[in-house]
Order: sequence, then C-alpha cells, then structure tokens
Amino acid sequence: MSSNRAWMPLHIENYLADTGHLTAAEHGAYMLLIMSYWREGCLPSDEKLIQRMSRLSKEEWAESRDVILDLLGRAGAKRATSKATTQFRPAIPMELKRQVRARDGEKCRYCGRTEGPFDIDHDMPWSRGGKHELRNLLVACASCNRSKGALTAAEFMGFDLEGHSI
Ligand SMILES: [Zn+2]
Repeated sequence: MSSNRAWMPLHIENYLADTGHLTAAEHGAYMLLIMSYWREGCLPSDEKLIQRMSRLSKEEWAESRDVILDLLGRAGAKRATSKATTQFRPAIPMELKRQVRARDGEKCRYCGRTEGPFDIDHDMPWSRGGKHELRNLLVACASCNRSKGALTAAEFMGFDLEGHSI
C-alpha cells in the first residue's frame, strides 16, 4: 500500500478516558475501525462494510453499533460519500500485479535495490485519484514505498520514471 500511515499515534490517557464503557470486543472493533480510518482517510459509507471491518458478527454489531459509531463520530472519523475519490480502496487484482512484476522485475523502481520484499506501489497515489492501472503501478521496495507516502513518483524522486527531470 502506498502509504506513510503505517503507524498511528495514540493518546493512551484520552483513549482510556473516552472508552471506559466499552467491552473488550468493542475495544477491538473500535481499534480496527480507527486504524482503517487512519489509513484510508474515511470509513465506507455502507454500514455493512463497517460492520465487516469491525470483525464483529451482525448480532454483536447490532448490539454495539451505537456506542462505536458515536465514538467514531466524536473522533472525527467521516464516512465516504458515494462521490468521494477517497472511497474504500479495493485490492489490486492479482493479474494486474503479475503484469507489473513481469514488466519491472524483482527491482525497486525508485532505488534499484534487488532484495525484497517488494510492494506494488501507485505512482499517483490512490488517495489522490490514482487508479489501479498498469501505467500507474510499479514495483517498489517496502522502504521506498513507506517513505514515498502520498507523493507521486516524480515528487518523491525529483524526476519522472523515464528519467526526465521535473
Ligand atoms: Zn527502493
């Protein structure tokens, strides 16, 4: 995932003060949802998807949804609107990943290192409207992918992937 959001700050004192009324299962569900919100910038508009992301059963969700949605609302976690470009990101199809790997080989397109693990990275990040398309995807080492964050390849490198300076 093209993201510099691999870690999330947590104010332990405030968290515990806000969530003293939650059960252990609700803590788990709430934590999964705020981590997802942190990474994606929004939660899905479809509550069924939120329920699945929380890993609570439908019955548990029905029981806990009010308290969890209320906390998410207070934490400022917004739901995606159907028109937002930051909708919940679908996975990159396996076949497309295979094509990217076949084109780029086992080599980071940014730093040239040949030792993995490698990620499939977006040139124009998904959060900025980049698509899952062969021309927008490339092989990157985990370290470059993390440092690149929400930059485009050109912004990150100072030149585009064909070597033209910008
Ligand atoms: Zn690299």
